[in-house]
Amino acid sequence: MNQSNKKNIDFIKNSGVNYFLQDSPRKWFENSSNSSAKSIINKNESKFNKIQEIIKKIESYETVLKKTAKNLVVYDGDLDAKVMFIGEAPGKDEDDQGLPFVGRAGQLLNKMLGAINFKREDVYITNVINWRPPDNRTPTDEEILEFLPFLQEQIDIVNPDFIFLLGGVAAKAILSTPLALGKLRGTWHEYQSLQLNKTIYTIASYHPAFLLRSPQYKKASWEDLQMLQKKINE
Ligand code: URA
Repeated sequence: MNQSNKKNIDFIKNSGVNYFLQDSPRKWFENSSNSSAKSIINKNESKFNKIQEIIKKIESYETVLKKTAKNLVVYDGDLDAKVMFIGEAPGKDEDDQGLPFVGRAGQLLNKMLGAINFKREDVYITNVINWRPPDNRTPTDEEILEFLPFLQEQIDIVNPDFIFLLGGVAAKAILSTPLALGKLRGTWHEYQSLQLNKTIYTIASYHPAFLLRSPQYKKASWEDLQMLQKKINE
């Protein structure tokens, strides 16, 4: 599914259409409790429109990465999610499908989410970089800085309570530090949005692709996921 096909499905999901085939027609706006349904619809519609604006901005932003990539990859999941997962950049599968984390690393991410009782649809998943770098090379610091405003805008729109950084590139972008993950993980960091008047609790942990290559770090990754789960349930 590419970004534009996804657009229609996301619009439906994010408009609050979670119920289907009932005995009687749903009357969303009939009484006061349904006015909250109305405001959910309005809120999600406005988030959806704002994200579409960002997608347009990224699409029209001129960068060398755009020349070699097939599809723009922006996000998957819920625009109203409490938790945002941020990876590095699309790989081949993501570039083919126009969606983040759909290859092998994505399958592991799905399992990691399942381990803390989340489905992919419950969280917002994105990357620092939205076009696949040639040969999957690591994005340069300049590229990270180029794409950072788009990522910051997404954080402001989604307004999550928690951010889970997958790998060193995401940690560098959001925590503004080149420190290795071994030094950053296992503790809470605070991301201060320029637009939102709140602190977003942030964890930096290992990237699923790294965990596939170095499974001995899965235990540490599991501890980080549990830290997140505990804080969500506090
Ligand atoms: N690796 C990432 O960092 N992001 C993806 O979307 C896929 C693999």
